[in-house]
Amino acid sequence: MTRKPTPITVAHGDGIGPEIMEAVLFLLGEAGARIEPDVVEIGEKKYREGFSSGIDEEAWASLRRTRVFLKAPITTPQGGGYKSLNVTIRKALGLYANVRPARALHPYVRTHHKDMDLVIVRENEEDLYAGIEYRQTDQVAEALKLISRPGCERIVRYAFEFARQNNRKKVSCMIKDNIMKVTDGLFHRIFKEVAEEYPGIQSDSWIVDIGAARLADTPEMFDVVVTLNLYGDVLSDIAAQLTGSVGLGGSSNIGDKVAMFEAIHGSAPPIAGKNIANPSGLLLGAVMMLVHINQHGVATRLHNAWLRTIEDGVHTPDIFREEISKQEVGTREFAQAIAERLGQSPETLHPVEYKPAERPQHEEIRHTSRTKDRKDLVGVDVFLDWEGEPKKLGAALSAFNGEGIKLVMISNRGVMVWPTGFPETNCSDHWRCRFLSENDAHPVVSHEKVLGLLERLTAAGFHFVQTINLYNFDGKPGYSLGQGQ
Ligand code: NAD
Repeated sequence: MTRKPTPITVAHGDGIGPEIMEAVLFLLGEAGARIEPDVVEIGEKKYREGFSSGIDEEAWASLRRTRVFLKAPITTPQGGGYKSLNVTIRKALGLYANVRPARALHPYVRTHHKDMDLVIVRENEEDLYAGIEYRQTDQVAEALKLISRPGCERIVRYAFEFARQNNRKKVSCMIKDNIMKVTDGLFHRIFKEVAEEYPGIQSDSWIVDIGAARLADTPEMFDVVVTLNLYGDVLSDIAAQLTGSVGLGGSSNIGDKVAMFEAIHGSAPPIAGKNIANPSGLLLGAVMMLVHINQHGVATRLHNAWLRTIEDGVHTPDIFREEISKQEVGTREFAQAIAERLGQSPETLHPVEYKPAERPQHEEIRHTSRTKDRKDLVGVDVFLDWEGEPKKLGAALSAFNGEGIKLVMISNRGVMVWPTGFPETNCSDHWRCRFLSENDAHPVVSHEKVLGLLERLTAAGFHFVQTINLYNFDGKPGYSLGQGQ
């Protein structure tokens, strides 16, 4: 019985996109993939037509219909007014997990890390990528880093499920919670909670700076790495480069309803149209797509034929080396060589074997049920645009104590400057002034008290640029204390 082909949305992209997509579609056909491509136009042409994110309604409709997207890289035009197509698609369609495997192909592709075989699972919707930024004073700009409990839980669970289904032994968490105790601290806490549910999988945690250094130096010590959006962006490019070429990296972007598959690299305009681009990244993205649409046999055949081609020394220029390669070929010839090896497996490199998962990877990841913490308003951080000496500001603002609320601390760019501080600290024109309840025994204030304080400050000529309410959750401060240690 022949199963019905799976509809997929296909975009040929810009730069090298069309030629690598042509190679990949040819190989999908040769390998017997049961797909029904719906080709859409996205990227440079659409940006120029006035679509600020490079995608039009027709493409959105196709994605909503097929829910599977095989996408070649696109060129983001230079200059203001253009939004990243990738970030738009990931956020709009809830593609929360970006999965990027990075595996060495030693001795056939030159790398310093012959045993490297890791997968980066990057959170894709939150963090500084919310793009919420403000210029607040003459000197200071701000970006908001937003991290949610469901967001952390979804990505961490996805990483452990991925490890379980792919027979991976360890999941490592990369965070910077020695500095960002509330945001990265939340991610880390959830990682530790979820890890306990997977006793068969080892887990460890790394501060991202030393973790990144170890990943660059000894990548073979990592298996699955789960991390926040920005760290994941940086780490996954490093990991891909360590395997030998960015042209080798494929990736998936997984959501509950839609999934997108692509190469990790960009549109490489300087080498476009020359038949020299390596189609491997997009091909490995397509292999991940085949697994996602339950065509495991085709995925296995295609991946193994690709490994065999690499092993036979048939290489595109980006990975061609006189001492190890046998034949330098173009994009089309490389695809032809893979097609000729369909049905073969590598002899030295590990062959792959994709099997249906016990439950599909894209199945909705459940959340732990929990009761909400009790939330009490206990004060407010008032950010002022002001120039002068911290002592003067402290004295002036202390005059506003009373009415149930008192000034307890002033910091400048996260460093405490009042009531104590160092004369050496460089101060900008952006001051965080913390007011807390005067009642230590029952430290709860009302919104009216906060509004009253703001009115009194404004009347006295202080210009506030931002206020952030301070809450206790179940009696514990939900804000960083003092300076950003
Ligand atoms: P790039 O990834 O296009 O190129 C970086 C380097 O890698 C270049 O030297 C390029 O020649 C080489 N390279 C990339 N892919 C290759 C391949 N398949 N085979 C051989 N060599 C390859 O990055 P860039 O130059 O920073 O960006 C170019 C454009 O791509 C920009 O407009 C950028 O916005 C866009 N971009 C798109 C995506 C995407 O669509 N997912 C991702 C990254 C960058």
